[in-house]
Amino acid sequence: MQELTHYLNGEHVKGTSGRFADVFNPATGEVQAKCPLANEAEMDQAVKYAMAAQPAWAAVNPQRRARVMMKFVDLLNRDMDKLAEALSREHGKTLPDAAGDVQRGLEVVEYCIGAPELLKGDYTDSAGPGIDMYSMRQPLGVSAGITPFNFPAMIPMWMFAPAIVCGNAFILKPSERDPSVPLMLAELLEEAGLPKGIIQVVNGDKEAVDAILHHPVIQSVGFVGSTPIAEYIYGTGCANGKRVQCFGGAKNHMIIMPDADLDQAADALIGAGYGAAGERCMAISVAVPVGDETADRLIEKLVPRIEKLKVGPYSSGNDVDYGPVVTAAAKANIERLVQTGIDQGATLVVDGRDFKLQGYEDGFFVGPHLFDNVTKDMDIYKHEIFGPVLSTVRAKTYEEALGLAMDHEMGNGTAIFTRDGDAARDFANRVNVGMIGINVPIPVPLAYHTFGGWKKSVFGDLNQHGPDAFKFYTRTKTVTSRWPSGIKEGGEFNFKPME
Ligand code: NAD
Repeated sequence: MQELTHYLNGEHVKGTSGRFADVFNPATGEVQAKCPLANEAEMDQAVKYAMAAQPAWAAVNPQRRARVMMKFVDLLNRDMDKLAEALSREHGKTLPDAAGDVQRGLEVVEYCIGAPELLKGDYTDSAGPGIDMYSMRQPLGVSAGITPFNFPAMIPMWMFAPAIVCGNAFILKPSERDPSVPLMLAELLEEAGLPKGIIQVVNGDKEAVDAILHHPVIQSVGFVGSTPIAEYIYGTGCANGKRVQCFGGAKNHMIIMPDADLDQAADALIGAGYGAAGERCMAISVAVPVGDETADRLIEKLVPRIEKLKVGPYSSGNDVDYGPVVTAAAKANIERLVQTGIDQGATLVVDGRDFKLQGYEDGFFVGPHLFDNVTKDMDIYKHEIFGPVLSTVRAKTYEEALGLAMDHEMGNGTAIFTRDGDAARDFANRVNVGMIGINVPIPVPLAYHTFGGWKKSVFGDLNQHGPDAFKFYTRTKTVTSRWPSGIKEGGEFNFKPME
Protein backbone atom coordinates (compact mmCIF):
# COMPACT_ATOMS: atom_id res chain seq x y z
CA MET A 1 0.00 0.00 0.00
CA GLN A 2 1.47 3.33 -1.06
CA GLU A 3 1.88 5.83 1.77
CA LEU A 4 1.62 9.39 0.46
CA THR A 5 3.54 12.27 2.06
CA HIS A 6 3.40 15.94 2.81
CA TYR A 7 5.65 18.28 0.81
CA LEU A 8 7.52 20.49 3.26
CA ASN A 9 10.43 22.81 2.52
CA GLY A 10 11.27 21.04 -0.71
CA GLU A 11 11.10 17.48 0.67
CA HIS A 12 8.56 14.67 0.71
CA VAL A 13 7.94 14.08 4.41
CA LYS A 14 6.01 11.21 5.99
CA GLY A 15 3.08 12.06 8.25
CA THR A 16 3.74 11.86 11.97
CA SER A 17 0.20 12.17 13.36
CA GLY A 18 -0.51 8.46 12.94
CA ARG A 19 -3.81 9.31 11.20
CA PHE A 20 -4.46 8.47 7.54
CA ALA A 21 -7.32 8.70 5.02
CA ASP A 22 -7.96 6.02 2.41
CA VAL A 23 -7.43 7.11 -1.19
CA PHE A 24 -9.57 4.94 -3.46
CA ASN A 25 -9.41 3.91 -7.06
CA PRO A 26 -13.06 4.86 -7.70
CA ALA A 27 -13.27 2.55 -10.72
CA THR A 28 -12.48 -0.60 -8.73
CA GLY A 29 -13.41 0.50 -5.21
CA GLU A 30 -9.95 -0.55 -3.96
CA VAL A 31 -7.90 1.50 -1.53
CA GLN A 32 -4.79 2.41 -3.52
CA ALA A 33 -2.96 4.70 -1.09
CA LYS A 34 -2.97 6.16 2.40
CA CYS A 35 -3.00 9.94 2.75
CA PRO A 36 -1.44 11.32 5.93
CA LEU A 37 -3.65 13.66 7.96
CA ALA A 38 -1.60 16.44 9.51
CA ASN A 39 -1.90 17.64 13.07
CA GLU A 40 -1.31 21.14 14.43
CA ALA A 41 2.42 20.56 14.99
CA GLU A 42 2.96 19.51 11.35
CA MET A 43 1.05 22.58 10.13
CA ASP A 44 3.09 24.78 12.45
CA GLN A 45 6.32 23.33 11.02
CA ALA A 46 5.15 24.21 7.50
CA VAL A 47 4.35 27.76 8.61
CA LYS A 48 7.86 28.10 10.11
CA TYR A 49 9.46 27.03 6.82
CA ALA A 50 7.19 29.43 4.92
CA MET A 51 8.06 32.35 7.21
CA ALA A 52 11.76 31.68 6.78
CA ALA A 53 11.58 31.54 2.97
CA GLN A 54 9.05 34.28 2.16
CA PRO A 55 10.99 37.55 2.72
CA ALA A 56 13.70 36.59 0.23
CA TRP A 57 11.07 35.53 -2.32
CA ALA A 58 9.18 38.82 -1.89
CA ALA A 59 12.45 40.64 -2.60
CA VAL A 60 12.84 38.88 -5.98
CA ASN A 61 11.61 41.29 -8.64
CA PRO A 62 8.20 40.53 -10.22
CA GLN A 63 9.70 39.79 -13.63
CA ARG A 64 11.90 37.05 -12.19
CA ARG A 65 9.00 35.65 -10.20
CA ALA A 66 6.98 35.60 -13.44
CA ARG A 67 9.79 33.67 -15.17
CA VAL A 68 9.30 30.83 -12.68
CA MET A 69 5.65 30.72 -13.79
CA MET A 70 6.74 30.66 -17.46
CA LYS A 71 8.95 27.67 -16.82
CA PHE A 72 6.17 26.04 -14.76
CA VAL A 73 3.83 26.29 -17.78
CA ASP A 74 6.43 24.45 -19.89
CA LEU A 75 6.71 21.71 -17.29
CA LEU A 76 2.93 21.34 -17.01
CA ASN A 77 2.78 20.84 -20.78
CA ARG A 78 5.69 18.40 -20.67
CA ASP A 79 3.99 16.31 -17.94
CA MET A 80 0.37 16.77 -19.06
CA ASP A 81 -0.27 13.05 -19.74
CA LYS A 82 1.36 11.94 -16.50
CA LEU A 83 -0.63 14.49 -14.47
CA ALA A 84 -3.90 13.58 -16.20
CA GLU A 85 -3.35 9.87 -15.56
CA ALA A 86 -2.59 10.40 -11.86
CA LEU A 87 -5.64 12.64 -11.58
CA SER A 88 -8.00 10.15 -13.27
CA ARG A 89 -6.69 7.29 -11.13
CA GLU A 90 -7.71 8.99 -7.88
CA HIS A 91 -10.66 11.10 -9.00
CA GLY A 92 -12.25 8.79 -11.58
CA LYS A 93 -12.85 11.39 -14.31
CA THR A 94 -12.00 10.57 -17.94
CA LEU A 95 -8.53 11.35 -19.29
CA PRO A 96 -9.68 14.24 -21.55
CA ASP A 97 -11.53 15.71 -18.56
CA ALA A 98 -8.45 15.31 -16.35
CA ALA A 99 -6.24 16.99 -18.97
CA GLY A 100 -8.85 19.80 -19.09
CA ASP A 101 -8.54 20.15 -15.31
CA VAL A 102 -4.76 20.69 -15.67
CA GLN A 103 -5.21 22.93 -18.71
CA ARG A 104 -7.65 25.32 -17.00
CA GLY A 105 -5.21 25.69 -14.10
CA LEU A 106 -2.34 26.22 -16.52
CA GLU A 107 -4.24 29.12 -18.08
CA VAL A 108 -4.33 30.86 -14.69
CA VAL A 109 -0.57 30.35 -14.42
CA GLU A 110 -0.21 31.95 -17.88
CA TYR A 111 -2.23 34.94 -16.69
CA CYS A 112 0.11 35.26 -13.69
CA ILE A 113 3.06 35.73 -16.05
CA GLY A 114 1.64 39.26 -16.41
CA ALA A 115 2.59 39.98 -12.77
CA PRO A 116 5.02 42.83 -13.54
CA GLU A 117 2.17 44.71 -15.23
CA LEU A 118 -0.53 43.59 -12.80
CA LEU A 119 1.48 44.56 -9.71
CA LYS A 120 2.31 48.06 -10.90
CA GLY A 121 1.14 50.71 -8.46
CA ASP A 122 -0.36 54.17 -8.99
CA TYR A 123 1.46 57.48 -8.87
CA THR A 124 0.22 61.05 -8.52
CA ASP A 125 2.80 63.68 -9.23
CA SER A 126 2.43 67.04 -7.38
CA ALA A 127 -0.65 66.10 -5.35
CA GLY A 128 0.15 69.30 -3.40
CA PRO A 129 3.11 71.71 -3.16
CA GLY A 130 6.15 69.44 -3.20
CA ILE A 131 3.90 66.47 -2.52
CA ASP A 132 3.83 63.21 -4.48
CA MET A 133 1.67 60.23 -3.70
CA TYR A 134 2.14 56.63 -4.77
CA SER A 135 0.69 53.28 -3.90
CA MET A 136 2.22 49.86 -4.15
CA ARG A 137 0.94 46.32 -3.75
CA GLN A 138 2.86 44.23 -1.24
CA PRO A 139 2.48 40.51 -0.50
CA LEU A 140 0.60 39.39 2.59
CA GLY A 141 3.28 36.97 3.84
CA VAL A 142 2.05 33.40 4.36
CA SER A 143 -1.20 32.41 2.63
CA ALA A 144 -3.08 29.12 2.76
CA GLY A 145 -5.60 27.39 0.52
CA ILE A 146 -8.04 24.54 1.14
CA THR A 147 -9.32 22.81 -1.98
CA PRO A 148 -12.03 20.27 -2.98
CA PHE A 149 -11.68 16.87 -4.62
CA ASN A 150 -13.40 17.68 -7.89
CA PHE A 151 -10.66 19.80 -9.53
CA PRO A 152 -7.43 18.67 -7.83
CA ALA A 153 -5.22 20.48 -10.39
CA MET A 154 -7.17 23.55 -11.49
CA ILE A 155 -8.36 24.87 -8.14
CA PRO A 156 -4.98 24.66 -6.34
CA MET A 157 -3.52 26.56 -9.33
CA TRP A 158 -6.30 29.20 -9.10
CA MET A 159 -4.90 29.95 -5.67
CA PHE A 160 -1.19 29.27 -5.50
CA ALA A 161 -0.19 30.78 -8.86
CA PRO A 162 -1.35 34.35 -8.05
CA ALA A 163 -0.38 34.03 -4.37
CA ILE A 164 3.18 33.02 -5.22
CA VAL A 165 3.75 35.40 -8.11
CA CYS A 166 2.65 38.23 -5.79
CA GLY A 167 5.52 37.30 -3.44
CA ASN A 168 3.72 35.20 -0.82
CA ALA A 169 4.59 31.76 0.52
CA PHE A 170 1.66 29.35 0.08
CA ILE A 171 0.51 26.34 2.09
CA LEU A 172 -1.91 24.10 0.20
CA LYS A 173 -4.26 21.75 2.05
CA PRO A 174 -5.72 19.72 -0.83
CA SER A 175 -8.59 17.26 -0.65
CA GLU A 176 -7.56 14.09 1.16
CA ARG A 177 -9.49 12.11 -1.49
CA ASP A 178 -7.10 12.87 -4.40
CA PRO A 179 -3.87 14.40 -3.05
CA SER A 180 -1.30 13.05 -5.55
CA VAL A 181 -1.58 15.71 -8.27
CA PRO A 182 -1.15 18.63 -5.82
CA LEU A 183 2.06 16.96 -4.59
CA MET A 184 3.28 16.62 -8.19
CA LEU A 185 2.48 20.29 -8.88
CA ALA A 186 4.59 21.40 -5.90
CA GLU A 187 7.55 19.38 -7.21
CA LEU A 188 7.16 20.89 -10.68
CA LEU A 189 7.12 24.42 -9.25
CA GLU A 190 10.45 23.80 -7.60
CA GLU A 191 11.82 22.27 -10.79
CA ALA A 192 10.77 25.56 -12.41
CA GLY A 193 13.02 27.43 -9.99
CA LEU A 194 10.79 28.26 -7.03
CA PRO A 195 12.82 28.37 -3.79
CA LYS A 196 12.07 25.76 -1.11
CA GLY A 197 9.38 26.63 1.40
CA ILE A 198 7.37 28.91 -0.94
CA ILE A 199 4.97 26.14 -1.96
CA GLN A 200 4.20 23.43 0.57
CA VAL A 201 1.50 20.78 0.59
CA VAL A 202 0.14 19.73 3.96
CA ASN A 203 -2.37 16.91 3.61
CA GLY A 204 -5.17 16.58 6.10
CA ASP A 205 -8.76 16.96 7.15
CA LYS A 206 -10.60 19.21 9.63
CA GLU A 207 -7.69 19.10 12.09
CA ALA A 208 -5.28 20.56 9.52
CA VAL A 209 -7.90 23.11 8.42
CA ASP A 210 -8.45 24.24 12.00
CA ALA A 211 -4.69 24.55 12.46
CA ILE A 212 -4.68 26.94 9.47
CA LEU A 213 -7.66 28.93 10.76
CA HIS A 214 -6.11 29.43 14.20
CA HIS A 215 -2.48 30.00 13.16
CA PRO A 216 -1.56 33.62 13.94
CA VAL A 217 1.04 33.87 11.14
CA ILE A 218 -1.24 32.82 8.25
CA GLN A 219 -2.63 36.02 6.75
CA SER A 220 -5.13 34.75 4.20
CA VAL A 221 -7.22 31.66 3.60
CA GLY A 222 -8.79 30.64 0.31
CA PHE A 223 -11.38 27.87 0.27
CA VAL A 224 -13.36 26.05 -2.39
CA GLY A 225 -15.75 23.25 -1.42
CA SER A 226 -19.24 22.67 -0.08
CA THR A 227 -21.37 25.49 1.34
CA PRO A 228 -21.54 24.38 5.02
CA ILE A 229 -17.74 24.11 5.22
CA ALA A 230 -17.32 27.39 3.29
CA GLU A 231 -19.55 29.12 5.85
CA TYR A 232 -17.59 27.61 8.76
CA ILE A 233 -14.19 28.56 7.31
CA TYR A 234 -15.31 32.08 6.45
CA GLY A 235 -16.73 32.70 9.93
CA THR A 236 -13.79 31.23 11.81
CA GLY A 237 -11.11 32.74 9.59
CA CYS A 238 -12.65 36.23 9.75
CA ALA A 239 -13.09 35.98 13.52
CA ASN A 240 -9.36 35.25 13.69
CA GLY A 241 -8.54 38.39 11.70
CA LYS A 242 -7.63 36.72 8.41
CA ARG A 243 -8.47 37.76 4.89
CA VAL A 244 -10.80 34.97 3.70
CA GLN A 245 -12.53 34.06 0.44
CA CYS A 246 -14.72 30.95 0.33
CA PHE A 247 -16.52 29.43 -2.64
CA GLY A 248 -19.33 26.98 -1.92
CA GLY A 249 -21.80 24.67 -3.60
CA ALA A 250 -24.22 25.18 -6.46
CA LYS A 251 -27.57 24.36 -8.01
CA ASN A 252 -27.31 25.66 -11.55
CA HIS A 253 -30.48 26.17 -13.60
CA MET A 254 -30.69 26.13 -17.39
CA ILE A 255 -33.75 27.84 -18.83
CA ILE A 256 -34.94 26.58 -22.20
CA MET A 257 -37.22 29.03 -23.99
CA PRO A 258 -39.84 27.80 -26.49
CA ASP A 259 -37.83 29.34 -29.36
CA ALA A 260 -34.56 27.61 -28.44
CA ASP A 261 -32.82 25.17 -30.76
CA LEU A 262 -33.82 22.08 -28.80
CA ASP A 263 -31.20 19.79 -30.32
CA GLN A 264 -28.53 22.23 -29.25
CA ALA A 265 -30.13 22.58 -25.79
CA ALA A 266 -30.37 18.80 -25.35
CA ASP A 267 -26.72 18.30 -26.37
CA ALA A 268 -25.72 21.04 -23.94
CA LEU A 269 -27.67 19.41 -21.11
CA ILE A 270 -25.96 16.07 -21.72
CA GLY A 271 -22.49 17.59 -21.40
CA ALA A 272 -23.35 19.96 -18.56
CA GLY A 273 -25.57 17.60 -16.58
CA TYR A 274 -23.71 14.30 -16.87
CA GLY A 275 -20.09 15.23 -17.75
CA ALA A 276 -17.62 14.39 -14.97
CA ALA A 277 -20.51 12.37 -13.41
CA GLY A 278 -22.11 15.70 -12.43
CA GLU A 279 -19.24 16.41 -10.02
CA ARG A 280 -18.71 20.01 -11.17
CA CYS A 281 -19.72 23.15 -9.34
CA MET A 282 -20.79 24.52 -12.73
CA ALA A 283 -22.76 21.41 -13.73
CA ILE A 284 -26.35 22.04 -14.78
CA SER A 285 -28.52 20.09 -12.34
CA VAL A 286 -31.88 21.74 -13.10
CA ALA A 287 -33.43 22.08 -16.56
CA VAL A 288 -36.30 24.58 -16.72
CA PRO A 289 -38.21 24.30 -20.01
CA VAL A 290 -40.75 27.08 -20.51
CA GLY A 291 -44.15 25.68 -21.51
CA ASP A 292 -45.33 22.06 -21.52
CA GLU A 293 -44.75 21.68 -25.24
CA THR A 294 -41.09 22.71 -24.86
CA ALA A 295 -40.77 20.35 -21.89
CA ASP A 296 -42.25 17.36 -23.73
CA ARG A 297 -40.09 17.93 -26.82
CA LEU A 298 -36.97 18.43 -24.71
CA ILE A 299 -37.51 15.21 -22.74
CA GLU A 300 -38.11 13.36 -26.00
CA LYS A 301 -34.71 14.56 -27.23
CA LEU A 302 -32.91 13.95 -23.94
CA VAL A 303 -33.93 10.34 -23.32
CA PRO A 304 -32.18 8.69 -26.30
CA ARG A 305 -29.09 10.82 -25.72
CA ILE A 306 -28.93 9.76 -22.06
CA GLU A 307 -29.44 6.11 -22.98
CA LYS A 308 -26.41 6.37 -25.28
CA LEU A 309 -24.06 7.68 -22.56
CA LYS A 310 -21.04 5.45 -21.98
CA VAL A 311 -20.09 5.13 -18.35
CA GLY A 312 -16.77 3.45 -17.54
CA PRO A 313 -13.28 3.62 -16.11
CA TYR A 314 -10.88 6.20 -17.55
CA SER A 315 -8.56 3.36 -18.57
CA SER A 316 -11.03 2.00 -21.11
CA GLY A 317 -10.35 4.81 -23.59
CA ASN A 318 -11.54 8.14 -24.84
CA ASP A 319 -15.06 7.14 -25.81
CA VAL A 320 -16.18 7.04 -22.17
CA ASP A 321 -18.54 9.95 -21.35
CA TYR A 322 -18.06 9.86 -17.62
CA GLY A 323 -16.48 7.74 -14.90
CA PRO A 324 -17.33 6.71 -11.35
CA VAL A 325 -18.05 9.18 -8.56
CA VAL A 326 -15.29 9.74 -6.06
CA THR A 327 -16.21 7.54 -3.08
CA ALA A 328 -18.75 4.96 -1.91
CA ALA A 329 -20.13 7.65 0.43
CA ALA A 330 -20.71 10.04 -2.51
CA LYS A 331 -22.50 7.22 -4.38
CA ALA A 332 -24.67 6.40 -1.35
CA ASN A 333 -25.62 10.07 -0.95
CA ILE A 334 -26.69 10.31 -4.62
CA GLU A 335 -28.75 7.12 -4.29
CA ARG A 336 -30.39 8.44 -1.11
CA LEU A 337 -31.38 11.70 -2.81
CA VAL A 338 -32.71 9.87 -5.90
CA GLN A 339 -34.94 7.83 -3.57
CA THR A 340 -36.28 11.03 -1.96
CA GLY A 341 -37.13 12.30 -5.45
CA ILE A 342 -39.21 9.16 -6.12
CA ASP A 343 -40.81 9.25 -2.66
CA GLN A 344 -41.70 12.93 -2.98
CA GLY A 345 -43.50 12.40 -6.29
CA ALA A 346 -41.07 13.36 -9.09
CA THR A 347 -41.26 11.27 -12.29
CA LEU A 348 -38.10 9.21 -12.87
CA VAL A 349 -37.93 9.19 -16.67
CA VAL A 350 -34.48 7.59 -16.93
CA ASP A 351 -33.65 5.28 -14.05
CA GLY A 352 -29.93 4.68 -13.51
CA ARG A 353 -30.33 2.80 -10.24
CA ASP A 354 -29.54 -0.67 -11.52
CA PHE A 355 -26.42 0.37 -13.38
CA LYS A 356 -23.65 -2.26 -13.15
CA LEU A 357 -20.42 -2.49 -15.09
CA GLN A 358 -19.03 -5.94 -15.74
CA GLY A 359 -15.62 -6.36 -14.13
CA TYR A 360 -16.08 -3.21 -12.04
CA GLU A 361 -18.89 -4.31 -9.73
CA ASP A 362 -17.21 -2.72 -6.69
CA GLY A 363 -16.50 0.61 -8.45
CA PHE A 364 -18.43 3.74 -7.51
CA PHE A 365 -20.35 4.00 -10.77
CA VAL A 366 -23.74 5.70 -10.89
CA GLY A 367 -25.99 5.37 -13.94
CA PRO A 368 -27.52 8.53 -15.44
CA HIS A 369 -30.89 9.67 -14.06
CA LEU A 370 -33.47 12.08 -15.46
CA PHE A 371 -36.35 13.40 -13.38
CA ASP A 372 -39.40 15.26 -14.70
CA ASN A 373 -42.12 17.15 -12.78
CA VAL A 374 -39.72 18.20 -10.03
CA THR A 375 -41.08 20.92 -7.73
CA LYS A 376 -39.46 23.53 -5.49
CA ASP A 377 -40.24 21.74 -2.24
CA MET A 378 -38.45 18.48 -3.16
CA ASP A 379 -35.08 17.56 -1.68
CA ILE A 380 -33.64 16.82 -5.14
CA TYR A 381 -34.38 20.46 -6.04
CA LYS A 382 -33.23 22.07 -2.82
CA HIS A 383 -29.94 20.19 -2.35
CA GLU A 384 -26.83 19.79 -4.46
CA ILE A 385 -26.73 16.13 -5.57
CA PHE A 386 -23.26 16.27 -7.18
CA GLY A 387 -23.98 13.24 -9.33
CA PRO A 388 -25.33 12.33 -12.79
CA VAL A 389 -28.89 13.36 -11.99
CA LEU A 390 -30.77 16.01 -13.97
CA SER A 391 -34.03 17.42 -12.61
CA THR A 392 -36.64 19.01 -14.88
CA VAL A 393 -38.81 21.72 -13.36
CA ARG A 394 -41.54 22.82 -15.76
CA ALA A 395 -42.29 26.56 -15.84
CA LYS A 396 -45.35 28.08 -17.49
CA THR A 397 -43.71 31.42 -18.31
CA TYR A 398 -40.31 33.07 -18.63
CA GLU A 399 -40.99 35.05 -15.42
CA GLU A 400 -41.66 31.83 -13.51
CA ALA A 401 -38.43 30.29 -14.85
CA LEU A 402 -36.43 33.38 -13.92
CA GLY A 403 -38.04 33.35 -10.47
CA LEU A 404 -36.82 29.77 -9.87
CA ALA A 405 -33.19 30.71 -10.48
CA MET A 406 -33.67 33.91 -8.45
CA ASP A 407 -35.28 32.22 -5.43
CA HIS A 408 -32.83 29.34 -5.08
CA GLU A 409 -30.35 29.91 -2.26
CA MET A 410 -27.40 28.99 -4.50
CA GLY A 411 -26.17 31.37 -7.18
CA ASN A 412 -23.07 29.97 -8.85
CA GLY A 413 -23.95 29.66 -12.53
CA THR A 414 -27.02 29.65 -14.77
CA ALA A 415 -27.84 29.58 -18.47
CA ILE A 416 -30.58 30.49 -20.88
CA PHE A 417 -31.12 28.85 -24.27
CA THR A 418 -33.08 31.07 -26.66
CA ARG A 419 -33.00 32.80 -30.05
CA ASP A 420 -34.54 35.93 -28.55
CA GLY A 421 -31.95 38.60 -27.81
CA ASP A 422 -34.37 40.56 -25.60
CA ALA A 423 -35.05 37.56 -23.37
CA ALA A 424 -31.33 36.74 -23.12
CA ARG A 425 -30.44 40.32 -22.26
CA ASP A 426 -33.21 40.62 -19.68
CA PHE A 427 -32.13 37.34 -18.08
CA ALA A 428 -28.45 38.33 -17.88
CA ASN A 429 -29.36 41.69 -16.33
CA ARG A 430 -31.92 40.54 -13.77
CA VAL A 431 -30.82 37.13 -12.52
CA ASN A 432 -29.01 37.18 -9.15
CA VAL A 433 -26.35 34.62 -10.09
CA GLY A 434 -22.62 35.19 -10.62
CA MET A 435 -21.88 33.48 -13.96
CA ILE A 436 -24.36 33.51 -16.85
CA GLY A 437 -24.40 31.54 -20.09
CA ILE A 438 -26.39 32.58 -23.14
CA ASN A 439 -26.67 29.44 -25.26
CA VAL A 440 -23.58 28.30 -23.30
CA PRO A 441 -24.34 25.71 -20.63
CA ILE A 442 -21.17 25.95 -18.52
CA PRO A 443 -20.13 29.60 -18.56
CA VAL A 444 -16.80 29.27 -16.74
CA PRO A 445 -14.95 32.58 -17.20
CA LEU A 446 -11.46 32.39 -18.70
CA ALA A 447 -8.40 33.07 -16.54
CA TYR A 448 -8.24 36.80 -17.33
CA HIS A 449 -11.82 37.33 -16.13
CA THR A 450 -12.84 36.39 -12.61
CA PHE A 451 -14.74 33.36 -11.33
CA GLY A 452 -17.34 33.53 -8.58
CA GLY A 453 -20.96 32.93 -7.71
CA TRP A 454 -23.46 34.90 -5.64
CA LYS A 455 -25.69 34.10 -2.65
CA LYS A 456 -24.74 30.94 -0.69
CA SER A 457 -22.23 29.95 -3.37
CA VAL A 458 -19.73 32.46 -2.05
CA PHE A 459 -18.55 34.04 1.20
CA GLY A 460 -16.22 37.00 0.77
CA ASP A 461 -15.76 39.92 -1.57
CA LEU A 462 -13.28 39.12 -4.29
CA ASN A 463 -13.54 36.47 -7.02
CA GLN A 464 -11.05 33.80 -8.01
CA HIS A 465 -8.32 34.51 -10.59
CA GLY A 466 -8.16 37.44 -13.01
CA PRO A 467 -7.43 40.87 -11.53
CA ASP A 468 -9.28 40.05 -8.27
CA ALA A 469 -6.63 37.46 -7.32
CA PHE A 470 -3.93 40.14 -7.43
CA LYS A 471 -6.00 42.20 -5.01
CA PHE A 472 -6.70 39.27 -2.71
CA TYR A 473 -3.04 38.25 -2.41
CA THR A 474 -1.61 41.74 -1.86
CA ARG A 475 -2.10 44.69 0.47
CA THR A 476 -2.08 48.24 -0.80
CA LYS A 477 0.37 50.62 0.80
CA THR A 478 0.11 54.31 -0.09
CA VAL A 479 2.97 56.72 0.44
CA THR A 480 2.56 60.49 0.62
CA SER A 481 5.92 62.23 0.31
CA ARG A 482 6.79 65.89 0.66
CA TRP A 483 10.02 67.67 -0.09
CA PRO A 484 9.20 71.12 1.31
CA SER A 485 12.37 72.85 0.25
CA GLY A 486 11.64 72.12 -3.40
CA ILE A 487 9.05 74.89 -4.01
CA LYS A 488 9.35 78.64 -3.40
CA GLU A 489 6.61 81.24 -3.61
CA GLY A 490 6.01 82.12 -7.26
CA GLY A 491 6.89 78.56 -8.29
CA GLU A 492 10.62 79.18 -8.66
CA PHE A 493 12.69 76.15 -7.85
CA ASN A 494 14.65 76.56 -4.64
CA PHE A 495 17.37 73.97 -4.71
CA LYS A 496 20.01 74.11 -2.01
CA PRO A 497 23.00 71.94 -2.81
CA MET A 498 24.16 69.77 0.06
CA GLU A 499 27.19 71.11 1.86
P1 NAD B 1 -15.85 19.56 0.96
O1 NAD B 1 -16.46 20.80 1.49
O2 NAD B 1 -16.26 18.27 1.54
O3 NAD B 1 -14.26 19.62 1.13
C1 NAD B 1 -13.50 20.72 0.69
C2 NAD B 1 -12.26 20.85 1.57
O4 NAD B 1 -12.67 21.09 2.91
C3 NAD B 1 -11.37 19.62 1.59
O5 NAD B 1 -10.02 20.03 1.53
C4 NAD B 1 -11.70 18.96 2.93
O6 NAD B 1 -10.60 18.28 3.48
C5 NAD B 1 -12.08 20.14 3.80
N1 NAD B 1 -13.08 19.78 4.82
C6 NAD B 1 -14.03 18.82 4.72
N2 NAD B 1 -14.76 18.78 5.85
C7 NAD B 1 -14.28 19.74 6.67
C8 NAD B 1 -14.63 20.20 7.98
N3 NAD B 1 -15.64 19.65 8.65
N4 NAD B 1 -13.94 21.21 8.51
C9 NAD B 1 -12.93 21.78 7.83
N5 NAD B 1 -12.54 21.38 6.60
C10 NAD B 1 -13.21 20.39 6.01
O7 NAD B 1 -16.08 19.59 -0.62
P2 NAD B 1 -15.75 18.45 -1.67
O8 NAD B 1 -16.70 17.33 -1.51
O9 NAD B 1 -14.29 18.15 -1.69
O10 NAD B 1 -16.06 19.23 -3.05
C11 NAD B 1 -17.34 19.31 -3.61
C12 NAD B 1 -18.02 20.62 -3.26
O11 NAD B 1 -17.23 21.71 -3.67
C13 NAD B 1 -19.35 20.81 -3.97
O12 NAD B 1 -20.27 21.38 -3.08
C14 NAD B 1 -19.04 21.77 -5.10
O13 NAD B 1 -20.12 22.53 -5.57
C15 NAD B 1 -18.02 22.63 -4.43
N6 NAD B 1 -17.20 23.33 -5.40
C16 NAD B 1 -17.39 24.68 -5.54
C17 NAD B 1 -16.66 25.38 -6.47
C18 NAD B 1 -16.84 26.85 -6.63
O14 NAD B 1 -16.01 27.49 -7.25
N7 NAD B 1 -17.90 27.44 -6.10
C19 NAD B 1 -15.70 24.72 -7.25
C20 NAD B 1 -15.53 23.35 -7.07
C21 NAD B 1 -16.28 22.67 -6.14
